[in-house]
Amino acid sequence: MIRYLRNTSLLPYNTFGVEAMASHLFFLQSPGELKEMLDFPGFSQMSDDMCNLLVLGQGSNILFTDDYHGVVVRNEIGGINVTYEDETSVMIEAGSGVVWNDLVEFTVNRGWWGIENLALIPGTAGAAPVQNIGAYGVEAADVITRVNAFHLEKGKWMALDNRECGFGYRDSIFKRELRNKTIIYSVVFRLSKKAQPMLEYSGIREELERMGISDPSGADISAAVASVRRSKLPDPEILGNAGSFFKNPVVSETIYRELSGKYPQLRAHRQGDQYKIPAAWLIEKAGCKGYREGMMGCYEKQPLILVNYGGATGKQILGFSEKIQESVYSLFGIVLEREVNVF
Ligand code: FAD
Ligand code: NAP
Repeated sequence: MIRYLRNTSLLPYNTFGVEAMASHLFFLQSPGELKEMLDFPGFSQMSDDMCNLLVLGQGSNILFTDDYHGVVVRNEIGGINVTYEDETSVMIEAGSGVVWNDLVEFTVNRGWWGIENLALIPGTAGAAPVQNIGAYGVEAADVITRVNAFHLEKGKWMALDNRECGFGYRDSIFKRELRNKTIIYSVVFRLSKKAQPMLEYSGIREELERMGISDPSGADISAAVASVRRSKLPDPEILGNAGSFFKNPVVSETIYRELSGKYPQLRAHRQGDQYKIPAAWLIEKAGCKGYREGMMGCYEKQPLILVNYGGATGKQILGFSEKIQESVYSLFGIVLEREVNVF
């Protein structure tokens, strides 16, 4: 029987470690339990006819600013299956509740290439397509071939291919048109059996050198990435956070030229005919790196990450993030867009 709790704290279910109450909380362990949930007595009133329903993975990309007056579905659908294999590639279908890093380990231990650079990103496989998770030059969109979901309003099962997911930079259709409208229950990935190391980012190359590895396996790369991440990023178990709070802004060449003329030390990255500016650099230049206000602050090693030192509310963190946006805007005229989902 599907597990259900009423008026429950979401504190254990979000990595920012903020308090918020859910009026109704379901724990979904298989796609089959979806029907049980939809048939649950009074379900359509609880969810206000599906208008008030939030799917939660590990809550590592979420900021609750209020209680959630509706249905929260904590997704715990497991299982990793190989659905196709040939000499050069393999396709795997992961249940959406599979812990992302378990999936990375599952693949690198078998010598399959594609997601090794995404080691140690918190969260679930089902959330990977939502914000098209990315790190060290690799994005989930590079390897996702299909996302299987249930459309809550239409009451229909659906399968979206890579193009239909509308992937963008930390973005997808699930963050826009389908926001809060689907429950993703599995994701299909195509991985390579042929070595294809992506070592563009200097951090990984340096770490591999330090490890004395010149011809790395996928497992070596994921170990190097994990080591760099452990040294740089706050562990949410110790310091509440949801990773990068803002996206790196992508600006026109004209704006980039203006900025780099004024700040020759700026290191931007070309993206087609535009430039990606490190948001962390903008925040640091605006004087916010390491800045603390009460129980929240800008992490001293990586100012793109806002941290909860304990007891900050979601509203306070949101207010703090707006001050950072204002500081960056008043200095550079650039609007920092939020990466974290605010509810
Ligand atoms: P949640 O936070 O629970 O949900 C995120 C969003 O997805 C919500 O809108 C939710 O409704 C929706 N969602 C979740 N599951 C489903 C589902 N099954 N069906 C439909 N909608 C769903 N992100 C990166 O891209 N790269 C990084 O390198 C990175 N590093 C991080 C480091 C730290 C320390 C932390 C705390 C976070 C980091 N993140 C990073 C952000 C986060 O890990 C990812 O966005 C992750 O994919 C969120 O997974 P989750 O299961 O916790 O999703
Ligand atoms: P970093 O290596 O110090 O680089 C700063 C920024 O410059 C990054 O955000 C990255 O953009 C960009 N960059 C660096 N080298 C690049 C290259 N060769 N080509 C194109 N862009 C380049 O960043 P970091 O803070 O230590 O993070 C390392 C990686 O982990 C990054 O990919 C970052 O996105 C990821 N990460 C993400 C989160 C999150 O919550 N989203 C949290 C921690 C780390 P991109 O961000 O586009 O890669």
